[in-house]
Amino acid sequence: MAARNRNCDVLIIGAGPVGGLLACILARGGRDVVLAERGARRPAAEGSRDTRGYALSAGSVTILQDLGYWDPLAAHAEPILEIHVSRRGGFGSVVMDAESQGVTALGQVVPAARIDAMLARALDAAGVEVREQTRIERLEAAGPERREVVVTGPDGRHRFAARLVVAADGAHSATRAAAGIEVLRRRYEADALVFDILPARQHRGRAFERFTPEGPLALLPQSGGRMNVVWVAPPEACDVREGLAESDRMAELQEFVGWRLGRLRAAGPLARFPLELVRARRLHDARLVLAGNVAHGLHPVAGQGLNLSLRDVAALAGRLLHAADPGAPGVLADYAASRSVDIERIAAATDFLARGLLAIQGFAPHALGGGMLLLDRIDPLRRLWAEQAMGLQPLPRRRLRSVPAALTEPGVRRRRGPAETGEGMA
Ligand SMILES: Cc1cc2nc3c(=O)[nH]c(=O)nc-3n(C[C@H](O)[C@H](O)[C@H](O)COP(=O)(O)OP(=O)(O)OC[C@H]3O[C@@H](n4cnc5c(N)ncnc54)[C@H](O)[C@@H]3O)c2cc1C
Repeated sequence: MAARNRNCDVLIIGAGPVGGLLACILARGGRDVVLAERGARRPAAEGSRDTRGYALSAGSVTILQDLGYWDPLAAHAEPILEIHVSRRGGFGSVVMDAESQGVTALGQVVPAARIDAMLARALDAAGVEVREQTRIERLEAAGPERREVVVTGPDGRHRFAARLVVAADGAHSATRAAAGIEVLRRRYEADALVFDILPARQHRGRAFERFTPEGPLALLPQSGGRMNVVWVAPPEACDVREGLAESDRMAELQEFVGWRLGRLRAAGPLARFPLELVRARRLHDARLVLAGNVAHGLHPVAGQGLNLSLRDVAALAGRLLHAADPGAPGVLADYAASRSVDIERIAAATDFLARGLLAIQGFAPHALGGGMLLLDRIDPLRRLWAEQAMGLQPLPRRRLRSVPAALTEPGVRRRRGPAETGEGMA
């Protein structure tokens, strides 16, 4: 079947938080954006099957505030006031609190479903053309001014000629593969079971991260007294826990967590996520750029993935809104150069936490506890842990200023000319 043709400024493949947010920003800034998503439109928050609670750093909140997307999330956000890091069976523990760090909160926890719902509304408000149940079929070699992509959806095939293609289709990106960009991939031999609980006692803004011989177990405070559990373990252990009756699973969790939060009750469905490290060897190709999990899929041990991805979005959006040609090689190279150190640093720190600490624990059971006692006593070390490991470093606002400024510039929104709207048959 012949494909219908359509020109656009930016074609974004993947409507996760990264693709969705970028599409909103670019459309508000006057770019002609098309967003292609292989799934259906994200459901209302209540109907979502994504059980994750995202721990967002101060920097991420700043980005969302500056872009005008924080207000709808604020009502569902729970501030993290303290973080308790401990080792199962060990004495050492690190406690960080917002007050001693000189901030009102160490981060905010927002349900993933609320972010999806907010983005669904924002995409409508920004007038983004969203193509659901649409997959990339073919990526052509880049021409001097555009890159053509053939996608297939419910209404047939479409050939987009975009000045820039953004690959935002997640860690297993078909777009990245079509561009021939290689990845470093490491399966952690661990999965995460994620679900909400309602402890009998108030969490009082405390987050808990417990390193166990199987993997880390995190409890994040959520609104309404709930907590989000991220329980990492080898796939076989996850198989067993997934198959347990809910009451038995809660009893086992209680053993791991102890009684400081009182009796734990399940408060929602369970979802399972396989864990791996994915690092793209490069962040751009001719008229194509990578953002979010396509560039870096991380272990969730330190809640870094979306925080890192939001910094990709801010860096990319700032450049694309100001560039005469959003796909120009210099624009893409500049974006890639600006992101490489942050990505390298966070991916390495996360991988160390995911593998290194467990390895230390395996070789010398008290090393981790000892390290924690040391961290607990030395404030600069605690700050380093807070900033590096937990991703709480605030992002300098100056890096973001370009984004909201461009959004308010009068007359930036370009109208599509007849040549660009023509839907002919190829
Ligand atoms: C258990 C767990 C807990 C986490 N907790 C945190 C946390 O607390 N804090 C934090 O910062 N990060 C956290 N993360 C990381 C966070 O989930 C990711 O960083 C984030 O989802 C990245 O968003 P993305 O839009 O790049 O990719 P994704 O969320 O993977 O979205 C990709 C989108 O592309 C679509 N797609 C895929 N293939 C195609 C295709 N061929 N064509 C069209 N569309 C396609 C998908 O349907 C999806 O909508 C966690 C991750 C896990 C697994």
